[in-house]
Amino acid sequence: MKCIFCNGELKRGEVEHKELGISLGKFPASLCSKCGEVFFDEVSVDGIQKKSKELGLFGLAKKTKVAKVGNSLAIRIPKEIAEFVNLKKEEVVKIIPKNHKEISIEV
Ligand SMILES: [Zn+2]
Repeated sequence: MKCIFCNGELKRGEVEHKELGISLGKFPASLCSKCGEVFFDEVSVDGIQKKSKELGLFGLAKKTKVAKVGNSLAIRIPKEIAEFVNLKKEEVVKIIPKNHKEISIEV
């Protein structure tokens, strides 16, 4: 089989999959020897989703609305995400703009 992106040769192997920085383990996949793209098998995709659900990571990324508080903007952090990063009320966090499209919050 060839890579759908660069037409490079695909090799079989096991690839570690991470979600939200947490390893879900290694899964069978095809790897492009040219561009490095990873194509997980259908069985792997199911396994990855199962493991992600087990670890409570599945569907953790959520949409939230920006509100206005005085002159600042406020973003509500969903309960599941707050619990995941162990964030409590009154806690001081560091907010870092990553680029023009992304903000990161260090807990
Ligand atoms: Zn490729």
